[in-house]
Amino acid sequence: MKRILVVEDEPAIREMLGFSLTKAGFRFEEAADAEQALLAIAANPPDLVLLDWMLPGMSGVDFARRLRRDEHTASLPIILLTARSEENDRVRGLEVGADDYVTKPFSPRELVARIHAVLRRSQPEADESPIVFEGLSLNPVEHRVEAHGHDIELAPTEFRLLSFFMNHPDRVYSREQLLDRVWGRGIYVEERTVDVHIRRLRKALAAQGYDRFIQTVRGAGYRFSSKAKV
Ligand code: CA
Repeated sequence: MKRILVVEDEPAIREMLGFSLTKAGFRFEEAADAEQALLAIAANPPDLVLLDWMLPGMSGVDFARRLRRDEHTASLPIILLTARSEENDRVRGLEVGADDYVTKPFSPRELVARIHAVLRRSQPEADESPIVFEGLSLNPVEHRVEAHGHDIELAPTEFRLLSFFMNHPDRVYSREQLLDRVWGRGIYVEERTVDVHIRRLRKALAAQGYDRFIQTVRGAGYRFSSKAKV
């Protein structure tokens, strides 16, 4: 049973989420603020964190950033709950490391669909051997990316994206195609979301010079070029 930690200060929303998540077959765990959540995560890391943006004390965005910086929680799936519908705010939420966001008010059905999608993206595909290009190695079973002996920390969505690219090199994919193949059909995500995750993936790969493998093809989309020089 997958464990979902809900970090939300409003008891009524926690209760509503507890009901919906339990009904959907998840184990519901709760924290009212970032400090409580840190203790809960340290004691027993959940499978996914459902994080409210507006929290007393440390905000949800700062908390997401903090989880991403810590190597123990760097790849913990995070969905932000936000009352903000401004696109810039949503993109900012993704930029600090959330895997997805849901805007309040949301339907329990939409939320559960997004949780399933994020969990699916964070699962390694079984029985696959590592894929290697020019010293960049992705191990789908261990969920690890390495370049010349250095670990490259990736959040679940960036890992899926890189895995997709490395499995389909030297072909151009439009944002829409990437959403279908990496995020999954039936999930509505803005195409600009792809750009945010590409940017994050490039940033993570840049330290070892592998950002050049991810190429922008003007007017068409993105390509993983196996012929790029490191
Ligand atoms: Ca709140």
